[in-house]
Formats: sequence, C-alpha cells, structure tokens
Amino acid sequence: MSAPGKTASAPSLTTPVQFLKGVGPQRAELLDRLGLHTAADLLFFFPRSYQESGQVHSIDDLAEDKLLSVRGTIEEIDARGSAEGRSMVGVLLKQGDLYLRAVWFNQPHMRNAFKRGQQVLFSGKAKLNGGRWEMVHPQVQEIAPDEPDSKSELLPIYPLTEGLKQHQIRSIVRRTLDDHAALLEETFPTEFLGQHELWPIHRALEQIHFPKDEASLEAARGRFVYQELFVLQLALAIKRQRQRAGAEAPKLPATQKIHARIMARMPFELTAGQQQAIREVSADMAASVPMNRLLHGDVGSGKTIVAVYAMLLAVAHGQQAALMAPTELLARQHMLTLGELLRASRVRIALLAGGQTAAQRRETLSSIAAGEVDVVMGTHALIQSEVEFARLGLVIIDEQHKFGVQQRAKLRSAGGDPHYLVMTATPIPRTVTMTLFGDLDISTLRDHPPGRQKLHTYLAAPHQREKWWKFFCDKLREGRQGFVVAPLIEMRDDDDHTAGAESLFESLANGPLEAFRLGLIHGRLKTAEKEAVMHDFREGKIQVLVATSVIEVGIDVPNATLIAIERAEQFGLAQLHQLRGRVSRGQHPGYCCMFAEATTEQSQKRLQALLDSTDGFHLAEVDFALRGPGDLFGTKQHGLPPLRIADLQRDRAVLEQARDDARQLVAGHPDLTGDAWARLRKMVLSRYGAALELGDVG
Ligand code: ADP
Ligand code: MG
Repeated sequence: MSAPGKTASAPSLTTPVQFLKGVGPQRAELLDRLGLHTAADLLFFFPRSYQESGQVHSIDDLAEDKLLSVRGTIEEIDARGSAEGRSMVGVLLKQGDLYLRAVWFNQPHMRNAFKRGQQVLFSGKAKLNGGRWEMVHPQVQEIAPDEPDSKSELLPIYPLTEGLKQHQIRSIVRRTLDDHAALLEETFPTEFLGQHELWPIHRALEQIHFPKDEASLEAARGRFVYQELFVLQLALAIKRQRQRAGAEAPKLPATQKIHARIMARMPFELTAGQQQAIREVSADMAASVPMNRLLHGDVGSGKTIVAVYAMLLAVAHGQQAALMAPTELLARQHMLTLGELLRASRVRIALLAGGQTAAQRRETLSSIAAGEVDVVMGTHALIQSEVEFARLGLVIIDEQHKFGVQQRAKLRSAGGDPHYLVMTATPIPRTVTMTLFGDLDISTLRDHPPGRQKLHTYLAAPHQREKWWKFFCDKLREGRQGFVVAPLIEMRDDDDHTAGAESLFESLANGPLEAFRLGLIHGRLKTAEKEAVMHDFREGKIQVLVATSVIEVGIDVPNATLIAIERAEQFGLAQLHQLRGRVSRGQHPGYCCMFAEATTEQSQKRLQALLDSTDGFHLAEVDFALRGPGDLFGTKQHGLPPLRIADLQRDRAVLEQARDDARQLVAGHPDLTGDAWARLRKMVLSRYGAALELGDVG
C-alpha cells in the first residue's frame, strides 16, 4: 500500500493534464488553450479528421501505385534550383538499411520542412526510379521517436494551437488512452448497447482516436454520435414530460356550438392546412395537460387565423388569452386584425406595449387582473412580473424565433398553467424542430391561401437601378404600394447612402420617387410616430415606405406588391425571405428586387437560393446547410450547448432514432430513476440541466 501522499500520482479521470506523461507545465498551457484540462478532456478530444495513409510498410514490401506509408529517419536533404526558377527538393528516408526518396517539385519551402535525424511517415504512391523507390509529393507526418508503430491506415488529425504539433498531441492522447481509458465506466447498460448495436465505450474510444480502418471508425463514431443525440433527446423528453405531469390547464373543448360561432366570424374559407392545425390545437386545448405546441409554416401561409381561433376558443370558455409579438408594430397589427374580426362582439381586447403612458399601463394592468379584459396583445411588456392575469388560459407567442428560450419560460409562469402555442415566421428544418423545439408538439402549415399571385425576385446590377425605379414608379401609378429596405437606420461614415434608411429616404424623395408620397419607419421612432406612419401606409396615404428590417415581421398590407432591398448581402436568408413575403399577400403579383454589393461566396449563395425558389421549406433547408452544423440556428442564442460530434445534416437518421428511443425510455422510466440509468441521468443534467431548466432530476 502506498502512503496517502503518493496516491496523487495514481491515474484518475480528473488528473490535471499537467501531470500526464509527456505533458508538463508548458504543454499544459497549450492544452488549456484547446479547452483540455483533465485526462477525461483528452480522452474525449476527438480528431477533427483523419489522414488516409494506407498500410504502413517496410520498404522491402513496397508495391507500385498503391497508397502506402513508410516510416523512417531523414538521412539527407538536397535542393536544386534552375535558372528558370524551377526547383526540386529531395529527401532521403532511411529505414534500417533500406532507402526511399521523396521529391517535391517547385516547392522550395520543403527544403526547410525537415531536419536530419527526424522521424517521419511518408504516405503516397511509390514508384521505382532507376532501381530506387521514390514518392512524389507524399503526405508527411512527423512521428515522435518513441511513438509506437501504428497499424492503422488512418492517422488522426487533431485540432491544434500554435506551438503544439500533430505528433505531440497524438502521443499525449495515445498515452492518456493507455493509462486512463480503463477508468471510464460505460454510460449505457449492457443490454442497451446490444439492442442498439452500439460499441462499448472502451472499444469505441480506442477506435475513434486510432481507427483500424474505415469501418471501425464509422462504428466508433456512430456510438458517440448516438450518445450525444440521445442525451440531448433525453433532456428534451424529460422536460416535455415534466411539463405535462406537473401542470394542470383548464379543459377548453371546441364544442360544436363554440366551433360554429368562431367559424362564423372567419373572413375567408380556411385552407386544409389551417383546418388541420386548428384540429390539432383544439384537441390539445380540450385536455388538462397544457398544450405545448409549435406552429410553423411559410411566410404568408396564414398562421394568424389559427392563433385567432385558439384565442376565441379560450375566451368562449371564459378564459383570458395573451398574445405576445416581438415588435410593437406587429402587436398593434394583431390588435387591428382581431378588432376587425370581433366587431360588434363582447370580446374585450387590450394592448400592453412599451410606448404607453404610466397611467394607461396601470389601468390596463388592473383590468387584466380583474378579468375585465379577455384578450391581451403585447410585446415584451407582457412578461414583466407585475402583469397578473385573473384566469389566463392560453398564451400565444408570435415569431418565436425573435425571443429566447428564457423568455418563453417567463411568460408561461405568468398566470398558473395556461395552454401554450408558439408560432415562427418561417418553416424550420425538421432536424431543428426535433432539437431546439424537441420538447414541443409540432403543427405545420404546408399550403398557402388560394389565389396567390406569383412573386418575382431579381438580383439587380448597379446599371439596372434606373430601370427598376422606372418599373417601381409604373406600378405605383397603377395604384400599388411598395417598401424600400436598408440594413441600418443611419448610414455609417464609410458607407454610401443606400446602407441607411434615413439617407436612402432623402435620396429617393429627391430622386427617382420624388413624384410619390414617401414615409420613413424604423425602430428609433416614437410609438405614436410609428403608429401614424403605419396607419397612413395601410390607408394608402403613404405609397412607399422606406424602412429598416422592422417591417420584416408580420406586416400585412396586401396592396403592397413592391419591395427593394438595399445591401441585400447583409441580411440572412430567412430574413430576406420574410421581407419579400411582405409583397405577396394579395391578388396582385409581387416584385422583389435585391441590390447587393461586395458579396462573399456565402452571401452569393444565399441570394441565388432566393432567386431559385420561393418555397420557404426548401429555403429553410438550404439556409441550414449553408450555416453548417456548428450553428444550430444560433444555439447560443437559444442557450443550448453546441453539439461536439454529431452533425444534424449528416446524422439525421440517428437523430430520429435517438428521439424515438429517448421518448420511449422516459415514458418507462420518468426522470431516469434507477441505478441502470444513473450515469445517463448525470450526463443529461450536467450538459442540459441549466439550459433547459431541468433542475434536479429524481
Ligand atoms: P403568416 O403565416 O405569415 O403570419 P398571415 O396570418 O399574416 O400569415 O396571413 C397572410 C395573409 O393571408 C393575410 O392577409 C391573411 O388575411 C390572408 N389569409 C390567411 N388565410 C387565408 C385564407 N384561408 N384565405 C384567404 N386569405 C387568407
Ligand atoms: Mg405572422
């Protein structure tokens, strides 16, 4: 038995990297920069890619034209240059008493890439040249002198930081695996591994770092991808189950009588999609388990009317309904829409928004608390703590993506356990609804209201401006209205006038649009000013609205059919699709013209996607693919930690499987109690407990 003082050197998963073999204080600092602090961090520091090296061979067994690797010591380096500027670097590799020559043409820097005596691995196709083996432009890997021979055809490539070399991190990981991996305990029960064909942790860990071949790498990776997605799905499933189990909402069934009364107020025939969504919503609201549903559909697909139905259903049962919108403009527009539909009814509607006086606000608050108001429309002002509802039965959040997860939670608790419906402006890829919104049930509007005209989209070059404004003016004379959008309110010093709404307004009013009535709107105007401008635009007194992206959300003026977007490269894909969605809402065709400057390859692709398609579902997938797996629709903003190994695009099938498995497991083992699931439960909590407010499980 060793004395207690000496056990500090016994391997443990929490051993600081500094005390690992071959690390020391200096390298520990480098590892720290990579976020690697303990032995466990190193074990789970997965390669970012693998270099295909072919089998490692003795020079004796080389064969022509096969991808192979040879390990040896650098014996000689020579370089030759020609007068014409051509050059050749030759390197002689010694392996026992055999030699291989590697050559590089016109890469003079290779002269300095090697040192005599250095151990390297050359991978490439060898050829016999005058009886001697030669490789042209092989891949090079530096090898530590004590690094054991690898049998692998795939060499791991790790993320690096300055001062740390590939072979150094490789041997650090190798040693950590040898000394510490055995201490890891299996996350899953043995039968679970068998049922889901997952490799056990030790085998998977060894093979993800140093795969024997492609097939082993796939199997090893498969285990960790599944584990990562399964843990996420478990967190979501637990959250979902808790919401259902702990809460009790009023039962608000859509009886035939109520249904008929609401439908009689609808101004148009509902689309099949709207009817389906309404059926799903009413089924949820009829139960005492609170509804927790996401409604998504393309811009203009008619989500508002589904929200209106749900609100009237709540009101029919004597409950209050609250609708929260991200901007005051949108909240006020919803007021108008609802006011119109409810003309000469007894339903009482109130607005709660930032721009109100203290007295107005006090009065509204007290009538909400007294139950004298049935429907409350509002902005963030709605989630402030002093808002108390007499009997809040339903909460709707429009344009959910504009709010964070935290805010979602706050409004929920405003008044007991209401039913809960969130709507997003644009379709969301399925992989994303399953992750970010995995705790919600989903309704999808796939169709558009009938009679929609075509939406034309153009990307215009500078010399086409004149032509576009002429067309714009022609349409205005026909009676249509339009928007012109700039990314900023004021242009910055280094920009031209098209970048700022104010300067753009000036130049249009004194230039191509001087014959028309123009209005200006942006976030910095006072509430009353915004309201006046929107009112005049709706009434047609203003023909052209120059704006920032404040008009992106919700604005619904069907006579507006024209939109010009300046500096389109500065907007996101979903945002541009939203913006042009403002002009295809009526019986006239819509026209969207984008002007772009200094586009990057990414922005070029975004703009091209908009030219190619008006299908929001398709664009959502394109957007998702362009942003890449790293940005899970801005997970940071949603508060979820990023995925480390899974890629939602590539691993879609695994994601679906993991979700089904997680829901099934949580149904049988609520909160994952029981020893068999203890390690998984811990993992779920440490990774997602805070972000999903899971608190203490079990
Ligand atoms: P979004 O899904 O973008 O929120 P809205 O609810 O604002 O869409 O609806 C877009 C426009 O389509 C509105 O002018 C709305 O009145 C109209 N609309 C919605 N549903 C129908 C329908 N079934 N038939 C005709 N027009 C409809
Ligand atoms: Mg809407």
